[in-house]
Amino acid sequence: MCNESKLYRTCRCGGVMTIHMHTLIYKAKVKISRVPVFMCRTCFQYEPHPAVKRDLSLMIQNLGSNPEITSLSFIERNEWASVLNDTFNGFQGEDHDLEQAVQQAMSARIDLLLDLFRIASEAADPVWMGEIESRLLKLISHTASKVS
Ligand SMILES: [Zn+2]
Repeated sequence: MCNESKLYRTCRCGGVMTIHMHTLIYKAKVKISRVPVFMCRTCFQYEPHPAVKRDLSLMIQNLGSNPEITSLSFIERNEWASVLNDTFNGFQGEDHDLEQAVQQAMSARIDLLLDLFRIASEAADPVWMGEIESRLLKLISHTASKVS
């Protein structure tokens, strides 16, 4: 099983690609901000992170061929991107500590969602519970892929 959530990879040019939050422009019109991408430190090529490609293409499909919106924030649609964004905002350490910082932020977010889920279930609100559950499942799939 491939590790979908990793933070580094090797570029075609042999350089090291690291993760960044990037603004992508769709159809020269729609700004999609805070998309996790891999960017090469040597040749500055970048590509959407494999773990977000699916959500990103869904988002673009929903925009259609003549989008009316001009800006979107990807972290509102993707839980993992949102955790990454939070981590980068408060991160002051070295690159090699980043992985651990992301892990910590991930477990903090999972704890938060579990608390919310408990509140939703006490409120007997099935729609809210379902929404939290799907956010949790997306995050857990990222953490699980870390182990393999
Ligand atoms: Zn490169």
